[in-house]
Amino acid sequence: MEKNTQEATPPTTTAGKIIRCKAAICRNPGEALVVEEIEVEPPKAWEVRLKILCTSLCHSDVTFWKMKPGAVSAFPRILGHEAVGVVESVGEKVEGWREGERALPVFAPDCEDCRDCRSAKSNMCASFGRRGMVGFGMLRDGTSRFRDGSTGEVLHHFLGVSSFSEYTVVDVVNLVKIGVDIPVDKACLLSCGVSTGVGAAWKAAEVEEGSTVAIFGLGAVGLAVAEGARMRGASKIIGVDLNADKFELGKQFGLTDFINPTTIGDKRVSEVIKEMTDGGADYCFECIGLASLMAEAFSSSREGWGKTVIVGIEMHGAPLVVSPYEIIRGRSICGTYFGGLKPKTHISLLAKKYLDKELNLDPFITHEVGLKDINRAFELLAEGQSLRCLIWMDGCK
Ligand code: NAD
Ligand code: ZN
Repeated sequence: MEKNTQEATPPTTTAGKIIRCKAAICRNPGEALVVEEIEVEPPKAWEVRLKILCTSLCHSDVTFWKMKPGAVSAFPRILGHEAVGVVESVGEKVEGWREGERALPVFAPDCEDCRDCRSAKSNMCASFGRRGMVGFGMLRDGTSRFRDGSTGEVLHHFLGVSSFSEYTVVDVVNLVKIGVDIPVDKACLLSCGVSTGVGAAWKAAEVEEGSTVAIFGLGAVGLAVAEGARMRGASKIIGVDLNADKFELGKQFGLTDFINPTTIGDKRVSEVIKEMTDGGADYCFECIGLASLMAEAFSSSREGWGKTVIVGIEMHGAPLVVSPYEIIRGRSICGTYFGGLKPKTHISLLAKKYLDKELNLDPFITHEVGLKDINRAFELLAEGQSLRCLIWMDGCK
């Protein structure tokens, strides 16, 4: 299929005006999204209005879609945080961006100026890092740029991105430049899931050549961990998933072994992994979002130096319980947000690795739909059929 690799022409006539466009609105937790007309206000200071070309569904959208209203969940809301777009217009105080430029919105802010953004050790922006969750992912001033097209009701943003809309408004700290040499659909993958997985293997775990790796959950994020570990020369990459189809898919990303927890009898997954790795994997990753499996991943890691990286977002808010005696025995556990990558520095490096044919991105795209069929993307992910289902905006493919 011919992909759009050319720069889209910016609709300059809309700058400074409200744009009416289509968006998929989530009105209540767990309810099918409704594709309706909304109003998108022009960007305010430090903001950019983006025309979304395509977006894709990540499991984090599903987690927040199901979440009852509370500290980080509010409705009606425009979900979506993995996307690629073109700058339609820029607000005051925005430097370094102009209309027509290709951009990736990224939920992890990167102000490039705070103590964390200046440190090589962190990607947790101290100035804006908590805004994506607290305050319901609204913009810098805590308000929304979205209104319901018929009632005028305020629609909530999500993770500072809200890409299930033909137009969105994003803070400059959440925006990353991306060249037009990488096809739109592949670029989209780098906005969340694949960058997170590859980064988890490279930055959070620092997987080395010859090491053994166990990955719990073989969605796009878990398989991106496999791809990152493959590129680092891991000798054994074990995948754990209830869905056996993921093994075949996973082989393309370097998966060497597979465990289906339902077919190992009375044994625990950690026992099987210990047998396969002579005592435990060097690096374990949880890419599902269940605290019990985070603990199982930890138990699968090797005494002495085994490291477990939590990537999944706990879907029920359950606490993680691990034995301190096991930690004393030289195992460690850490978490990672966007794979520990600094969006403004590292995404372009991943794009280059794709263009240099070192990073395998193509097989992550398993399905494609138009915005009007966005609920199908949710079904495909729930059924375990898709890795990433791309959702194209009308006329952008
Ligand atoms: P996905 O739904 O595509 O994949 C999850 C996989 O886990 C599926 O293959 C499923 O079959 C498998 N699975 C589910 N329950 C299981 C169980 N009990 N035992 C074994 N396998 C099981 O999800 P995804 O989009 O790849 O996202 C994975 C996780 O990563 C989610 O929790 C998501 O919220 C999180 N995430 C975290 C970050 C971050 O910055 N830390 C970024 C993106 C996504
Ligand atoms: Zn995501």
